[in-house]
Parts: sequence; structure tokens; C-alpha cells
Amino acid sequence: RGKRAFIAGVADDQGFGWAIAKALAAAGAEILVGTWVPALNIFETSLRRGKFDESRQLPTGGLLEIAKVYPLDAVFDTPEDVPEDIKNNKRYAGSTAWTVQECAEAVKADFGSIDILVHSLANGPEVTKPLMETSRKGYLAAVSASTYSYVSLLKYFAPIMNPGGSALSLTYLASEKIIPGYGGGMSSAKAALESDTRVLAFEAGRKYGIRVNTISAGPLKSRAAKAIGFIDDMINYSSANAPLQKELEADDVGHAAAFLSSPLASAVTGTLLYVDNGLHAMGLAV
Ligand code: NAD
Repeated sequence: RGKRAFIAGVADDQGFGWAIAKALAAAGAEILVGTWVPALNIFETSLRRGKFDESRQLPTGGLLEIAKVYPLDAVFDTPEDVPEDIKNNKRYAGSTAWTVQECAEAVKADFGSIDILVHSLANGPEVTKPLMETSRKGYLAAVSASTYSYVSLLKYFAPIMNPGGSALSLTYLASEKIIPGYGGGMSSAKAALESDTRVLAFEAGRKYGIRVNTISAGPLKSRAAKAIGFIDDMINYSSANAPLQKELEADDVGHAAAFLSSPLASAVTGTLLYVDNGLHAMGLAV
């Protein structure tokens, strides 16, 4: 039987989640995605109208097929957590069962189990503010959407993951080196995500026999990155200073994700893999 993957955080064809979906599909996996509720409508419409058909092309021939798109808001774990204003928000009213727990239940009801879980989502409402100007609310929101969302996804999906399965997230160098501009507590959220990768590798490894890793990706002009505001500078900085002076492609991360999610990496867990043209290793720009 081929493997089945659930990728949380796909809402267009520009980000890492899409590229990971393609790489896993090219390797033979069945693809399910979780799409942020407010972005669901436009994503499904665009898919249906063929807007992504060009980027759906797989190197192996054929098109990326998404077996099912699930609505998801990874900031809410159970229906009890959803406040009234969200419940009554018209961007949420058309969808049901989008808390993490309900999403996992829906996947279980539809498909029984998965082998691969990918967390490719982040949100920091105050990302453009320096840490010293970030509010407590903004900081906690960044950690909630970008980090606890992963703990929650694993908590609810691990019980439906087959032994030997793999969980993967995406992180960024700002967790360990000073990157002015990556604010709002997002650097803190990524530091927590990397630490959690190790603890979750232990807990999910012992309890479910699944592996947990994270990819520290170089800069990519995704929708989320454009919201940060200085992504062009980061891309130029990387091209000028990294050991490999080429632009990072989303597919570079997709390929590494396919490796980490595959049996080729069956003894790899609790690790951070840099997929950044080597920028992390530089100490002095020349
Ligand atoms: P992206 O915009 O393609 O992906 C982010 C996704 O998160 C979007 O689809 C958005 O709808 C979704 N999302 C936001 N809040 C959500 C919520 N509460 N529930 C469910 N989904 C939610 O952008 P991307 O840059 O590909 O981001 C994917 C991951 O890669 C993120 O973890 C990001 O921090 C990480 N990353 C990005 C870069 C970069 O330069 N783009 C570099 C390193 C790491």
C-alpha cells in the first residue's frame, strides 16, 4: 500500500506546503491537505477552475491530485475552544468540523489512518513589530498559531498514524540567530518549535513509533513571507552570502521533506535539517 499524507497549511501553490505535497505525490503518496478556513473558499475555487493546473504538473508525469481538502484552524483544538465571534464569522460559517480534533476525526472516518503528517503553517499577527514592541497578546498568538498548533496536530493525529510514520514541520533560522525584522514573537515561536521537535520525537517515538523532524528553510517568497515585509532583502542576502549562490526553490524543501518522510530516513528523528543553501553555516559574510 502507498503512503498517505496529511499536509496542514496549503492554501495556494506558492508556499512550502504545496511543494511538499507535490514531492510526496511524485513519490507515490496519497495527498490530503488541511486549509485555513478563511482561505478555503478561494483555494477550492482556484483548484476547481484550473488556476493551479500548471503548477500541479509532477516531474514524474501526471498532475498532483488532492484526495480531499479539509477545513482547518489549528488555533482551536476542540469545538469548546471556539469563541462566539469566530462561530458567527461569515468566513467560518460555511465550514464545519475544522478544529484540530474534529479534523483528525474526519480524516479517520474518511481514510482510517495516515503515515505522514506535515505542519507547514505559521501566523504572527505582530510579525512586523520588533520583539520589544510586541504585545503579550501578539506574542502568545504567534506561539499558539505557529507552535502549539504542531503539538495539537500531533496529539490528535498520532493515534491515527501508522507505526514508522513521520511528522515534519518548517522552521526558520531566526530561532537561533538574530534576524531583525522577524518579530512579533515569531523568532520565539520557531525556537519553541525546534525544542518541541526533540521532546515530541521522544514522546511520539516511544508511544507511537513515529519520527518527528523539522526543516529549517531558507527564504521563499510565499504569501506568508510577503506579510513579513522584507522577504526580497532576505532572498538577496542569501544569494549574496550563502555558500550556494542560487535562489532557494520551494521544491528544494519539498524534496528534503519527501526524504525525511520516507523509509530512507527510518532512523532519523528529533533532528533539524537545514535546507537553505548553507546560509546557516556562515559566520562572516564575504
Ligand atoms: P504559506 O503562506 O504558503 O503557508 C502558511 C499557511 O499557514 C497558509 O496556507 C495559511 O493559510 C496557513 N495558516 C495560517 N494560520 C493558520 C491556522 N490558524 N490554521 C491553519 N492554517 C493556518 O507560507 P510558507 O512560507 O510556505 O509557510 C509554511 C511554513 O514555512 C511556515 O511554518 C513558515 O514559518 C515556514 N518557513 C517559511 C520561510 C519563508 O521564507 N517563506 C522560511 C522558513 C520557514
